[in-house]
Amino acid sequence: MEYRTLGQTGLRISALSFGASSLGGVFREVNEGDCIRTVHVSLEKGINFIDTSPFYGLTKSEAVLGKALKAVPRDRYVIATKMGRYGHEPKDFDFSAQRVTASVEESLNRLDVEYVDLIQAHDIEFGDLDQVIQETIPALRKVQKAGKARFIGVTGLPLKALRRVVEAVPVDTVLSYCRFALNDTALLDLAPVLKSRGVGIINASPLGMGLLSSRGTPPWHPAPAELKEVCARAAAHCRAKDAGIEKLAIQFALTKPDIATTLVGSANPAAMEKNVRWAAEPIDRQLLDEVLAILKPVHNLTWPSGRPENN
Ligand code: NAD
Repeated sequence: MEYRTLGQTGLRISALSFGASSLGGVFREVNEGDCIRTVHVSLEKGINFIDTSPFYGLTKSEAVLGKALKAVPRDRYVIATKMGRYGHEPKDFDFSAQRVTASVEESLNRLDVEYVDLIQAHDIEFGDLDQVIQETIPALRKVQKAGKARFIGVTGLPLKALRRVVEAVPVDTVLSYCRFALNDTALLDLAPVLKSRGVGIINASPLGMGLLSSRGTPPWHPAPAELKEVCARAAAHCRAKDAGIEKLAIQFALTKPDIATTLVGSANPAAMEKNVRWAAEPIDRQLLDEVLAILKPVHNLTWPSGRPENN
């Protein structure tokens, strides 16, 4: 496993890391034993960074992680969680300072740890960015000063919203998802801005939350039909060549050293074992060219997320 430094945090984290939304059963019904084994296999194979949120499975992901990590020494992993998003409806977002404090305590209890390494404002585009800048980030800094989180960051889909916050107030990390993958490389336009400010870059969803997989997308997937259709065609092309698009997608996501880590999720120990193995293998250049050619008509095609003014 390759390790990279996360911005100016000094944290050395695995280039491929574990995203725990799957443990909340967001893609399918999951079995707790499999979830716990998936965490252990990931750590055994060299992954040391885990990302979760109270939103994933409505606290289930954090609770299962708490169980899985109980027997693991605290210095063996770097853990990130989030605050601000607790469901799908507008009423389920709360970026107030009061919620920051309460949310962190709840997460520490569920995870059964004394501190998290990173606390992030989750999907900021659903909030008022003025509030995020003026209230949420200062409240997260207080949490950091109190020793309950080592670093702070923001997450979201629209790069415009992430840029706005980063240019207004110092943050340690940015988590962007679905914007650096085989079908979408828009994160590379923001990366130099983040790098120049010393902001660590976390890339999530190398499989586009199922777009770049043989299983395809879950029913809630927000991508436009055209994007789903072209991605399914790219997956079929790989299958016809006896290859999996998942492998190509994971390898592609690791090609930019300025991106400290890429979070992939699964609740299947064998799938995570494969993901780590693939990360160490050379990419099939010819297949990559073929797949990029199929995906070209939908390159950087995304979808709106959150408040219209933040897209
Ligand atoms: P992903 O692109 O990692 O895709 C996950 C899907 O791919 C799951 O259905 C999983 O079963 C499947 N998969 C994984 N490995 C596979 C393999 N080897 N073969 C076949 N299928 C495989 O999407 P994700 O899980 O949404 O993203 C990863 C993590 O990134 C999340 O768990 C979360 O921690 C983070 N994330 C954060 C945000 C945010 O903060 N807003 C958004 C998206 C993702």
